[in-house]
Amino acid sequence: MIRRAIYNLSLTKAELKQLSAIKAWEGGHWDTPPNANISAIKDKMRQQLEAVQTVCCYCGLKLKTTSNGEIEHVAPKSKHPEFTFTLKNLALACHYCNFSEKKGKKETIVAGRKHKTYSKCEFLLVHPYFDDPNLHYEWTDNAVEILIQVRDNSPKGSFSITMFGLDTPQMNEARAAQVRIEELKAAKPLSVADEQLLSDTMNYKE
Ligand SMILES: [Zn+2]
Repeated sequence: MIRRAIYNLSLTKAELKQLSAIKAWEGGHWDTPPNANISAIKDKMRQQLEAVQTVCCYCGLKLKTTSNGEIEHVAPKSKHPEFTFTLKNLALACHYCNFSEKKGKKETIVAGRKHKTYSKCEFLLVHPYFDDPNLHYEWTDNAVEILIQVRDNSPKGSFSITMFGLDTPQMNEARAAQVRIEELKAAKPLSVADEQLLSDTMNYKE
């Protein structure tokens, strides 16, 4: 139900060089890029993500279900500004998962287990790129809800379920609705209008 992100952002060598030249550790460069080149690279990354990622990197629900996707820094840029432009730190999340009462600026790296190489950091949550959700979550589909549970006492699974409220009735119902729509579409292709109607009807509300 929640799938690992398998796509890669791809920038040219010249673009990567420009990113590595900015002092990202000073912070603030994401919201106010230091020059037009960095602004353009940021736009390019958003376009690439929007082209390949249709579901939230945390809850697995379609991005348009709850809101348009927001570019999310898995390790928050306020706490780890040096990872502001690290490609594997960026994915689209829905507003429901990303807003301040859920993830917001909360720490996602294990205390004392930060590494200057991003991929060698130890993360508290199920990382969208590095972790296989199937090793951390279990699912029970009872037709009206798809319930989520921690698999094998996974600390990361437990952390993510709590942080994102993945086990709320709204999430459980929204997940089931999404799967039922996919099943309907598989049985009989829907028109765009039918799909929109179904989506609107089954859309969950916080
Ligand atoms: Zn989400």
